[in-house]
Amino acid sequence: MIAYIEHFVHGNDTESKPDDDVSGLAANFDSGTTGIASKDFGGMKSFKPLALIMPSTTLDVSQAVKAAARTSHLTVAARGNGHSINGQAMADKGLVLGMRAMEDHYFELIWLDGTPYVDVSGGALWEDVLKRCVLQFGLAPRSWTDYLSLTVGGTLSNAGVSGQAFRYGPQTSNVTELEVVNGKGDTLVCNETQNSELFFATLGGLGQFGIITRARVMLQQAPDMVRWIRVVYSEFEDYIRDAEWLVTLGEGDGFDYVEGFVFVNSDDPCNGWSTVPMDSSSQRFDPVHVPSTSGPVLYCLELVRHYSHTDHPSHVDMVVDRLVGELGFVEGLKFEVDVTYMEFLLRVNRAEEEARSNGTWDAPHPWLNMFVSKSSIVDFDREVFKKILKQGVGGPILVYPLLRNKWDSRHSVVVPDSNIFYIVALLRFIPPPPKGPPTELLVAQNHAIIQLCYNKAFDFKLYLPHYHSQENWMRHYGDKWSRFVERKANFDPLAILAPGQRIFSRIP
Ligand code: FAD
Repeated sequence: MIAYIEHFVHGNDTESKPDDDVSGLAANFDSGTTGIASKDFGGMKSFKPLALIMPSTTLDVSQAVKAAARTSHLTVAARGNGHSINGQAMADKGLVLGMRAMEDHYFELIWLDGTPYVDVSGGALWEDVLKRCVLQFGLAPRSWTDYLSLTVGGTLSNAGVSGQAFRYGPQTSNVTELEVVNGKGDTLVCNETQNSELFFATLGGLGQFGIITRARVMLQQAPDMVRWIRVVYSEFEDYIRDAEWLVTLGEGDGFDYVEGFVFVNSDDPCNGWSTVPMDSSSQRFDPVHVPSTSGPVLYCLELVRHYSHTDHPSHVDMVVDRLVGELGFVEGLKFEVDVTYMEFLLRVNRAEEEARSNGTWDAPHPWLNMFVSKSSIVDFDREVFKKILKQGVGGPILVYPLLRNKWDSRHSVVVPDSNIFYIVALLRFIPPPPKGPPTELLVAQNHAIIQLCYNKAFDFKLYLPHYHSQENWMRHYGDKWSRFVERKANFDPLAILAPGQRIFSRIP
């Protein structure tokens, strides 16, 4: 493979296409096959790589990085499933490693001190990890993302957040060991005690310090079923009071999943009342229940309680009714269904199918994700949800609380400095222009929201961050910036890895 790449990169001549693949490793140089590597879910950025490489082993990954290190200019981007928004998994004229080619390379159940773990490939999709763990062992990871066609390495490079994170922390808090190829091409096993600095750096490290080829993920007993509930609020203060109470309840006492979203107080089919019921064939949102004092937007708490086939139905009812009875939602606006655990975790697949059929899946996605501290969230609601976004974003606007003590400050990801902070996600699904508004307009709206947060001195951080200048990255990392730079110098001194994040420039 090395000879293959070097022949090409030193040949410096696009006519001299290599004709021998010495290791049997698939490396594609022609634009027909590299096309996928210059696209992502965001659909707003496109950078053409020199080559798309399909590694089948960790050694292939290491050799690709070493080959790039021997040049003065090549960079390497691991590409998970390309679900980034702003070209983060791209490498302009560099090497893109299609990590999914390794998705089956590792899969092993391990018991350590009575706790189950699974070793999986960095390129594995979370949905495959779910299916294999549940069907083969009756076990499952504890912390998820909402959508599971994302790779293990891709979400661990960010954080990986969903409605279980209040209890178990983000996905980065639920792995105990990684195998990583660093920016020198060295392969290292790392955990809290062995190569610990690389372990902490890599988790939430935006791919800057190493390529995750294997992760050891903590497992729990998989429940059979879930009771899935949505309750509606008209006042933000009531909504956050209940949400914050729910996330402080201990395991067994409360719900197993707590999320929520903002929706428009209207009959708008994409943004309004009809987005609340989970089963439109049997449930209907009756607006007669909405208090006349309500504002332009309403709020929906989404809750789940796990149970097993052996639990008595009346016990599940009793526990759920007791908890729901404590909540101050709008009477008459409660929806619930019972579905299997797998159906629940794979729930976004249905939305994906719908978006694919109406053209909004392949359209640009100018998404914005942020963490806003509890101290700023009421003002954020007043200024952003109730004013700027009062007509919705054409998709979910998530807002739900997370607990800082479940996040490990040794990891690279940065979050606001408060015990409770909210994830806010504007998940825009808009038909492409001319049917929908120009993408630039929506990007500008995102910028206006970020600028407003700075102007009002809100305590916030971008999640899945994207900036154009190093000054902005310095501001993002704040007092963690020097640690970030030091880690880069240690683990990727030539700044070869994850160039699409646009934090560091390749050092010749
Ligand atoms: P990519 O986009 O391919 O890569 C992301 C970054 O990680 C790039 O910089 C890349 O170089 C790097 N990278 C990829 N693989 C590796 C590896 N093995 N080792 C080191 N670096 C690597 N996020 C949440 O937290 N919660 C959600 O609920 C959630 N829902 C989503 C729903 C949808 C429909 C979409 C599109 C995204 C969602 N995300 C969510 C965001 C998601 O976490 C990111 O897109 C993430 O980057 C994972 O996507 P990916 O595996 O395709 O990674």
